[in-house]
Amino acid sequence: MTTRQKTLYRGRFAPSPTGPLHFGSLVTAVGSYLDAKAHQGEWLVRIEDLDPLREVPGAARDILTLLEKMGMYWDSNVVYQSQRHAYYREALSILVKQGLTYNCTCSRKEIADSSVIGIDGPVYPGTCRNAKKHRQLTSSPKKQPAVRIKTGDQSVGLNDPVQGVIVQHIGNDIGDFVLHRADGVFAYQLAVVVDDAEQAITHIVRGADLLNSTPRQIFLQNLLSYATPAYMHLPIVTNAKGEKLSKQTLATPVEQNNVLCQLFAALKFLGQNPPDELRDCNLDSFWQWAVTHWNPANTTAAGGKRPDFIT
Ligand code: GLU
Ligand code: ZN
Repeated sequence: MTTRQKTLYRGRFAPSPTGPLHFGSLVTAVGSYLDAKAHQGEWLVRIEDLDPLREVPGAARDILTLLEKMGMYWDSNVVYQSQRHAYYREALSILVKQGLTYNCTCSRKEIADSSVIGIDGPVYPGTCRNAKKHRQLTSSPKKQPAVRIKTGDQSVGLNDPVQGVIVQHIGNDIGDFVLHRADGVFAYQLAVVVDDAEQAITHIVRGADLLNSTPRQIFLQNLLSYATPAYMHLPIVTNAKGEKLSKQTLATPVEQNNVLCQLFAALKFLGQNPPDELRDCNLDSFWQWAVTHWNPANTTAAGGKRPDFIT
């Protein structure tokens, strides 16, 4: 392939630096890496440090160090969302200029009081959509508004190779969602769509906890005339109580001293069938086997066995 030819596969891993990698995020890293490498594609890493209040100092560096230690090398410079506000602002202004957005000054309580509960919490009742008066009456002049997108009456669907067909009526299931928060932080839904397009990502392999977000992202891609990448949502790792591993559920960080064992377990969880010797070999042989034998069709929506070292 000459360098002029477009890469046919460009994937990415996009961790939020809210803490160290745990087994759940490792599974996503491994799945996205293997899918990219098995397609002779590129694998990029993007640090999603949009929200300074959720960021843990040093977490981004620790995640990158661990990926390297595990032999997962990225193909281009690491991108940090905290440095890309200009891109998000530009995309937002395109939507604003087309009259597809509106300012919202509702309080958290007003929104939480919505009587309609959708698939991702309360559905915003659209109070500010048509109500200039409401804004004038309720907003203090200093309060920055949030910016919401008008979702209208559209259904958006995708056919995910692991999770099957998902169809969402964005207006009813989610409601007009926020693109730019009242505290000035760009919303994940906007930033991720802008970055995936700007980085020319063709394939997104990530955890099924984001499956509900994907129709929103396809919806925004359509409005912004971006291409829609192929999506694959991997099973979520849960702890013994059935909760998704996260900082909130106090997931244990990936053990740094035995990375092969962790990688082996991630591969098993993804439904692959590595021979036992692979656990005691070296990283090169591990990756060689894993890339050659990668078969995402073996990944089931429920995931494989949860290794006993995770909490
Ligand atoms: N930063 C998101 C997370 O860590 C992932 C975003 C994505 O893969 O689209 O949950
Ligand atoms: Zn409002």
